[in-house]
Amino acid sequence: SGAAEKRRLTILGSTGSIGTNTLDVIRQLGGREAFQVAALTGNGNIDLLAEQAMTTGTELAVTADESQYGNLKAALSGTGIEVAAGRSGLIEAAERDAGWVMAAIVGTAGLAPTLAAAKRGADIALANKECLVSAGDLFVRAVQAGGGKLLPVDSEHNAIYQVLEENQRHAVERIILTASGGPFRTSSLTEMRDVTAATARAHPNWSMGLKISIDSASMFNKALEMIEAKHLFGMRPEQIEVIVHPQSVIHSMVGYSDGSVLAQLGCPDMRTAIGYALSHPARPSLDVQRLDFAKLSRLDFEAPDEERFPALRLARLAMQRGGAQAAILNAAKEVALEAFIGGRTGFLQMAEITEAVMEAMIAITPSSTMDDVFAVDDEARRMARAIVERDAAAA
Ligand code: NAD
Ligand code: MG
Repeated sequence: SGAAEKRRLTILGSTGSIGTNTLDVIRQLGGREAFQVAALTGNGNIDLLAEQAMTTGTELAVTADESQYGNLKAALSGTGIEVAAGRSGLIEAAERDAGWVMAAIVGTAGLAPTLAAAKRGADIALANKECLVSAGDLFVRAVQAGGGKLLPVDSEHNAIYQVLEENQRHAVERIILTASGGPFRTSSLTEMRDVTAATARAHPNWSMGLKISIDSASMFNKALEMIEAKHLFGMRPEQIEVIVHPQSVIHSMVGYSDGSVLAQLGCPDMRTAIGYALSHPARPSLDVQRLDFAKLSRLDFEAPDEERFPALRLARLAMQRGGAQAAILNAAKEVALEAFIGGRTGFLQMAEITEAVMEAMIAITPSSTMDDVFAVDDEARRMARAIVERDAAAA
């Protein structure tokens, strides 16, 4: 029967920016006729999660927020859709039988469920870059042991995946990550000192979740992506370059030993990357805007300024030092970012706090288990919070 041929998939973080784009791609590629959704997960946005659950006919809907269990249960009563909540609910969603899992929970909260899906051998479409930054080697090994594919969804890494031919890996010299430069690309340090989360979140080209938008403004997003690229493509730190490209049309490039550079181009729309990850190795047919080169007329490039955007320097430092420095960078940055969003610290302090915690925890050795990863993460967060509070008290 047709039902037996449906592809089974799960979306961790279905209510977010990547999650809703993923559901749109699924709708475009045949919806319930072609796919059986095994599980969807969200957090506080119960109305949207319930609506998605009913539209897709998912088997299981999970809210990460335990206090919302009753509301979700009520919203889905009589539908036959199973409901769960909390960390155990997220793991249950990840462990459901589904061959393809979109990992689109934001932050370190996505680590445990994504790892659970990887361990059981699902193909992982990875949007959650924090998995690779915090637990790079462990995560890559878990995917290899599980036997599934690791399909990058981050637009830069998806672009590289598209132009990095597997049989040409030995000839890759460098990868070049493009960065839009964000809303403060031309701002001075003095101007950046007083910016608020409301201005920092306004990304010039991409429409994304709150945290990643602000990370783009500080270029911490690119810092995480450098570390992500190191793990995804097995590159040495010096092979990873960043170039500011304000139009965001070239999504990234690979430079080969013969001097050739291959690039992937497109309109800034995450559905192209998501569709590629879903249909790989085939290419899906998607209703997204096409590039109009005549209208575009030019592509600009400039070297990144590491003085105004110290996040890039911190990423290189973390990669050179190795150990747990990348996990520490990520955890301290998340605390600093939350403090900035809450108006408790300044825009430029995010890098200062992150660097201070990296320095303080320089002796921590690489994590050999996930428990080590979580312990390092906790400690870095505790230190970052202490710095935020100390600075607030001094101000
Ligand atoms: P978002 O904030 O729009 O959505 C996040 C999702 O995670 C939502 O479904 C939310 O309910 C869920 N969530 C939030 N807190 C949670 C918690 N504590 N536990 C469990 N679930 C929780 O974020 P986004 O922009 O969709 O980004 C998701 C991930 O993809 C991030 O890691 C981001 O860096 C990455 N990414 C996003 C884009 C983009 O275009 N938005 C591009 C590249 C990579
Ligand atoms: Mg990106």
